[in-house]
Formats: sequence, C-alpha cells, structure tokens
Amino acid sequence: MKIINVTKQKFLIYLAYISLACFLTTLMNIVNTVYILKIPLTADTYIMPTLAGLLFGSMLAHIKSLSSRLKQLAFTDSLTKIYNRLHFAHFLDIEIDKAKRYDSTFSIIFFDLDHFKDVNDNFGHAAGDRVLEQLTQVVAKANRSADIFARHGGEEFIILAPETDISGAMIHAERLRNDIEKFEFDTVDHITSSFGVTEFKKEDTLEMLMERADIALYMAKEYGRNRVEKA
Ligand code: GH3
Ligand code: MG
Ligand code: MG
Repeated sequence: MKIINVTKQKFLIYLAYISLACFLTTLMNIVNTVYILKIPLTADTYIMPTLAGLLFGSMLAHIKSLSSRLKQLAFTDSLTKIYNRLHFAHFLDIEIDKAKRYDSTFSIIFFDLDHFKDVNDNFGHAAGDRVLEQLTQVVAKANRSADIFARHGGEEFIILAPETDISGAMIHAERLRNDIEKFEFDTVDHITSSFGVTEFKKEDTLEMLMERADIALYMAKEYGRNRVEKA
C-alpha cells in the first residue's frame, strides 16, 4: 500500500514538472517567435526544456525521497518503525513545558518484556525481533491517537499519554499488559511484560519523571513481573 502511495506521489511530481516544462516552453515560443525575435518553432525548442524539466523533476523527487528517508532514520527505530528514544525525549520536553504553562497533566507508561533474553536464547534473535515487531503492533492498536509511543531501547518501550492522570494511565497500562499476555505471537506463543507508571508533577524535569517511571518498572519486576506498578 505504502509503495503504491510513494509511486503515485512521485508520478504526480513528475507530471507537475513536465507540465511546468511544457508551459514554459510554450510561453518561450510565443514570446520569442511572435513578439520578439520571430524565431521559427522547431522540435528543439520543445524537446530541450522538456528534457531539462524531466531531469530537474527526477532530481528533486530523488532529493525529496532521500530527505524523508533521513528523517525516518533520525526519528524512528528501524525494527519497529515507532519513535526512537531521542525523538521521544523531544516530545516529552514539549509536553513538560505545556503542562507547566497550562497547568495540565500527562502520564508516562514505561514497560519491559519479561525474560526476553530467554526468547533469544531458546528461539533465536530473529524470533526475538519478530516478537518486538508484533508487540509494537499490539500496543499501537490499543493506544489512543494522541499517545506518543517509542522504543526506549532493547525490549523496553515508553508511552507518553497526554491529558491523562495516574488513574487513567494505570487503566491503560493494565489493558496493555493484558493484551500482551493474551496475544499469540508467531514465534513464542505467549510472553508477559512489566509496567511502571507515573504522572507528571509540577516541579518535574525530564530526568525526574523518567527516574520515577524507571523505579515503578523496577518495582513491577521485583514484585514478580507481569504487573503494573506506579511511583
Ligand atoms: P527481565 O524480565 O528482568 O526484563 O529479563 P530480560 O531477560 O527481559 O532482561 P535482560 O535485560 O536480561 O535481557 C534483555 C534481552 O533483550 C537481551 C538482549 O539480547 C535482548 N534484546 C535487546 N534488543 C534486542 C533486539 O533488538 N532484538 C532481539 N532479538 N533481542 C534484543
Ligand atoms: Mg526484559
Ligand atoms: Mg530491559
């Protein structure tokens, strides 16, 4: 589906440049031929600008697709295609500013797959990768569209839930924990995950907030895994 869209987009860009080239050619010929130099119309006067337009169009389309690829590499994780940790921090910074200025709130849901090392050890790294891909789809499906979902690193993921207090975030985390536990993965059948949840406090910096989410996740692991804890 995505390939078709990209091709269609490129095709429209080419078409726009060809039309522009033809339009300019016609304009040049009208001006040159009729009003100024009275040069006779030849094939060259059409072909060269059209070819130049095509070349220019193809170069621009190429540069555009390269720049969007670079953007994708900088902001997203290559395996799961969700935001990476760096870009998540950027969203979090903005949300902290917003919450302080408008006296609003938001929550962070931090989670980690349980005993994921065993998946790699028992089924291989490729199977582990597949679990991470499928897990991302399960969580993305359950998230609200405003939620910012990112891979924090390895088998750790993080969600920024705007306009959500701790009780709402706990409910959301519990639903995700349940969805993950119930999901039948292609390669490992079932896997569980542990969650740490925290709500923004007025004096919080990004580091303080992340540290609390980390403590909550640590507690969930300590209390036996496959559970949600808050801090
Ligand atoms: P715990 O329940 O305490 O979280 O145990 P765990 O085994 O999940 O945690 P640990 O930190 O010991 O192991 C994490 C594993 O995740 C080890 C690492 O190889 C694996 N891992 C990290 N990133 C990737 C990845 O991109 N693909 C795959 N297949 N494995 C990964
Ligand atoms: Mg783990
Ligand atoms: Mg981990």
